Amino acid sequence: MDLPRIFTIRESGHRIHNPLTPHKFAVLGEALRLPPGTRVLDLASGSGEMLCTWARDLGFTGTGVDVSSVFTAQARDRAVELGVTDRVEFVHGDATGYVTDPPVDVAACVGATWIGDGVAGTAELLGRSLRPGGLMLIGEPYWRRTPPDQETAEGCHATGPSDFLLLHELIEQFGDLGYDVVEMVLADQDSWDRYCAAQWLNLRRWLDRNPQDEMAPEVRAELSTEPARYARYMREYLGWGSSP
Ligand code: SAH
Repeated sequence: MDLPRIFTIRESGHRIHNPLTPHKFAVLGEALRLPPGTRVLDLASGSGEMLCTWARDLGFTGTGVDVSSVFTAQARDRAVELGVTDRVEFVHGDATGYVTDPPVDVAACVGATWIGDGVAGTAELLGRSLRPGGLMLIGEPYWRRTPPDQETAEGCHATGPSDFLLLHELIEQFGDLGYDVVEMVLADQDSWDRYCAAQWLNLRRWLDRNPQDEMAPEVRAELSTEPARYARYMREYLGWGSSP
C-alpha cells in the first residue's frame, strides 16, 4: 500500500503537505503549552515536519505513521537533518485503526481525517491512543463561504457542498462530539498559496525532467488547469484549520 505517485510529484518540494506555513506550525506547537518530553502520535505524518520541528524547538518526542514511502523516507531524513533521531520515529504504514499503547499526551491527525472516515471517526480513533486529559489535534478544511453550487464545491475538490462545514459549524461539531475546542491555528489565503501555488513549480520542473513519463499527459493537464481553478474556487471558498 502506498500513496499514488501523482501526490509525490505534485508535492515533491513540500515539507508541509497542508496549507500551514513553518511559522504557523511553530505557533501551533507553542500554543499547546506543553513541556519538553511531551509524547505525540501523529497519524498521516507526511514528511514529518511537524514532529521534527517540535522535537527540535519544544523537546517533544513522538511517532509518525504515514502510508507514503516517499514522504516517510523524507521524514526520516529530516529527523537526521534536524538532529532529532533520538526523539522521533517514522513508521511506514496505514494509519487506519492505528492505536498506540502506552497512550500519548498529544494525538494528531493534521489533514487526513479520511483515515477515520471523517472528523467524528478520527476523533474516536485518536482518543484510543490518548491519555486521560491529553490533547487531540485535528486539521480539517472548512468553507470560508458557503459554496453557491455543486460546480463550486467540485472546483474545491469536494464531492459536494456537504463535504465540509463553515468554521463555526466545525467547531460546534466538536462540541456535539463531547470535546472542548481549546485553541486553533488557521490557514489564510497566503498560506494556501504556499501549499497550492508551490505545487505548480513542482509540476513544471517534473515535466521538464520527465517528458516521456507515462504520467506526463496527466501532469501537463493539471498544470494547465489548476492555477486558474485554484484562484477561482479554492482560494476563495476553502479554509483550513488545525485545532486542539
Ligand atoms: N500531516 C502531514 C501530511 C498531510 S497530507 C502534514 O501536515 O504535512 C495527507 C497525508 O496522509 C499524506 O502524507 C498521505 O501519505 C497520508 N495518508 C493518506 N492515507 C493514509 C493512510 N490510510 N494511512 C496513513 N497515512 C495516510
